[in-house]
Amino acid sequence: MPRGKAAGQRCVQLTADLRCALFGLPERPRCCAGLMPSTAMCGDSPAQALAWLTQLELLTAPSGTVAAPSG
Ligand code: SF4
Repeated sequence: MPRGKAAGQRCVQLTADLRCALFGLPERPRCCAGLMPSTAMCGDSPAQALAWLTQLELLTAPSGTVAAPSG
């Protein structure tokens, strides 16, 4: 995604089973490779993790840049 990923937009590298297609590769963005997961971030389920991520994207998105949820 050469122009970056807008908040709420699905990453093109996210596979159907919710894995990163670039995991372990040098092409993976530094911001992704440097992210350290935590219990607060992941919760107890994929649904909790996605809710946390959605909230974070909404809180940090520049005004008017949040894409409609996809996938
Ligand atoms: S870790 Fe980064 S590159 Fe990989 S799927 Fe998630 S947002 Fe995309």
